Amino acid sequence: MNIILLGPPGSGKGTQAKLIEERCGIPQISTGDMLRKAVENKTELGIKAKNYMDSGALVPDELVIMITEERLKAEDCRDGFILDGFPRTVTQAEALDEVLNKMNKKIDNALNIEVKEDDIIRRMSGRRICKGCGASYHIIFNPPNEENICDLCGGELYQRDDDKEETVRNRLKVYKDQTEPLINYYREKSVLRSIDGGRKIEEINQLIEEILT
Ligand code: ADP
Ligand code: ADP
Ligand code: ZN
Repeated sequence: MNIILLGPPGSGKGTQAKLIEERCGIPQISTGDMLRKAVENKTELGIKAKNYMDSGALVPDELVIMITEERLKAEDCRDGFILDGFPRTVTQAEALDEVLNKMNKKIDNALNIEVKEDDIIRRMSGRRICKGCGASYHIIFNPPNEENICDLCGGELYQRDDDKEETVRNRLKVYKDQTEPLINYYREKSVLRSIDGGRKIEEINQLIEEILT
C-alpha cells in the first residue's frame, strides 16, 4: 500500500503517519525529518537546505526529489510506504510519478487532511518534536506520558524554530501557493480522499483505517 499524506503544515500528517506505520508495518517517509537530520549533521544537503527551512520556504525541488527517490529504493519500502510532506509541488508530484513508474509502482491513496487555519496555529504553537525519531506531540492536545520525553523512543522533545507564529504564517502561504494545487492533481488521478482533520487524533486515525481497509 503506497500512501501520500497531504495537508497544510500542522494538519497532523506526521502524527497519523506514525500511527499508520505502527499498525500497517510500512515506513513513514518524512522529507521534513530527513532534512532536519541533514541540517543537524551539517551535511552538504543540510547546508544547502537550512536557510530555506528557517524562513519557511520550500527547499529546491531537485534536492528533495533526490533524497526521496533514494529513500523509496530501500528494502523496507517493498510492501508500501507513507509519504509525509512529499510531494509539495506539482514538479515533485510529476517526478514521483516517474520514479514510481520506473519501479512498477503507483500511489494507491492520497489522503488529504483538512484543517481550519486557527486550529493550525493552535497546533503549531504547542507542538513538540522528538529529537530521536521525529514523533510529534502537543503540550495540550497530545502530551507525552512523561514530560519532554518521547513515548516511542525515550528521546528528548524540543520546539522547532520554524514553529514560531510569523514563520508559520509564511509556511501557510507557501502551502496555499505551491502545495494546494496537488489536491486537484490527485483528484484527477482518482486517488484523493479528503478527511476531516478537525477531529480528535484517534477519530482521524479511525477514518483513515476505514479508508485503507
Ligand atoms: P504535520 O506533520 O502535518 O505538520 P503534526 O502531526 O506534527 O502535523 O501535528 C501538528 C501538531 O498538532 C502537533 O503538536 C500534534 O501533536 C498536534 N495534532 C495532530 N493531530 C491533532 C488533532 N487531531 N487534534 C489536535 N492536535 C493535533
Ligand atoms: P510540517 O510538519 O510543518 O508540514 P515539515 O517537517 O514537513 O513541516 O517540513 C519542514 C520544512 O522542510 C519545510 O518548511 C520545508 O522548508 C522543508 N521541506 C520538507 N519537505 C519538503 C518538500 N517536499 N519540498 C520542499 N521543502 C520541504
Ligand atoms: Zn522519539
